[in-house]
Amino acid sequence: MFCYQCEQTVEGKGCTKIGVCGKDEDIQSLQDTLHFGLMGVAAYAYHARQFGARDEAVDAFAHEALFKNVTNASFDLNQYLQMVLKCGEMNLKAMELLNRVHTEKFGNPTPVEVSTGTRKGPGIVVTGHDLLDLYELLKQTQGRGVNIYTHGEMLPAHGYPELRKFTHLAGNYGGAWQEQKKEFNEFNGPVLATTNCVLVPPPQTYLDRLFTAGVAGIPGATHIPNRDFTPLIEKALSLPPLIEKNGDTVSTGFHYSAVLGITDKIVDAVKRGKIKRFFLIGGCDGARPGRNYYTEFAELVPKDCVILTLACGKYRFNKMKFGAIEGIPRLIDAGQCNDAYSAIQIALALANAFKCTVNELPLSFVLSWFEQKAVAILLTLLHLGIRGMYIGPTPPAFLSPHAFGLLKDTFDLRLISSPANDLAAMRGATQAAKA
Ligand code: SF4
Ligand code: SF4
Repeated sequence: MFCYQCEQTVEGKGCTKIGVCGKDEDIQSLQDTLHFGLMGVAAYAYHARQFGARDEAVDAFAHEALFKNVTNASFDLNQYLQMVLKCGEMNLKAMELLNRVHTEKFGNPTPVEVSTGTRKGPGIVVTGHDLLDLYELLKQTQGRGVNIYTHGEMLPAHGYPELRKFTHLAGNYGGAWQEQKKEFNEFNGPVLATTNCVLVPPPQTYLDRLFTAGVAGIPGATHIPNRDFTPLIEKALSLPPLIEKNGDTVSTGFHYSAVLGITDKIVDAVKRGKIKRFFLIGGCDGARPGRNYYTEFAELVPKDCVILTLACGKYRFNKMKFGAIEGIPRLIDAGQCNDAYSAIQIALALANAFKCTVNELPLSFVLSWFEQKAVAILLTLLHLGIRGMYIGPTPPAFLSPHAFGLLKDTFDLRLISSPANDLAAMRGATQAAKA
């Protein structure tokens, strides 16, 4: 454990074995889990608040959770376990709120094929998760001869009718966040970073054409307050134009409202044995080794199964052509981490259609985590009682072995091993359920 949050910390440096206050590594671990989960909740709640929406219960929980972590407030492991699950519950509320404001403002997303090439002419690439920033930029660039490209986590924007109607929303450039340094260096135009998962550019690369907005901030980049993107647009017009370049297309926009429209078809295909299983392969991507697991897993998914996906992890396989089963796409992209609510609603809708629980569905969760929104989403899934999920590529370092063991025992949480082994175990679960 490591804690230096109060004055009595060992030698004024940090408690590492046990707290002077009596706190042990399990309490510390769950305090960290609560804290990190709360960061994720804050991201969703902050985005929703940008649209003028807030949820009193979520706000109150933020105060309660931070207060709970104050020195000498609670040493009760069970209380902390309940709190981290409540964090998941509150995260569901925050995500629901964000989904509501996004769809009220921009309409319900619908499936769309998005170009990954570039058009001839000036262009701006927008990264991060802030759809309002993108919307304002699209309005301010209308008729200015500047094309706008989404990057990575901004890809789901193309699904929204009110964003897609801008004809200069030209496509999606690049993949997951860890590729930014290379991809942004190769992009001629300026880059706008709106939220988390922005990287510090290497020296002498694109810092002079990097702009930030909202919570994002990079020393040396130009920060844009109040969504007046004039300096960014002027920069785009001053730089050499992008060249026309063809690219593959990727699909997105499978909001739950779109999937609900084909639920009957899906249920029928399952009942006739045309679809054997669903795999939700979702979560963040990352730079460390071991992430190839998710690519290999997606490649191994049998042809009579459907992959639901969301967030950056999909950039490892979303350009592959998975085809369709009787018109139902085998790859259903619900969006990014900000669209986890949609993926959850799809799972709940399937459970409703089959008149069973999510745990009884032929559905396996294969999750990858990187940062704190992923922690909040995992807590939401645990709050919903979902069992037997596979997580990776590594267990969170902030969870003590005992605390992780408690979650494993309670929720049958599993660490990924090899794609073939895990896939066999998941398909075995289908056979067992049938027997
Ligand atoms: S809160 Fe407890 S564990 Fe943390 S620094 Fe203070 S005495 Fe140490
Ligand atoms: S999905 Fe995760 S890794 Fe990707 S941009 Fe969002 S928070 Fe970052």
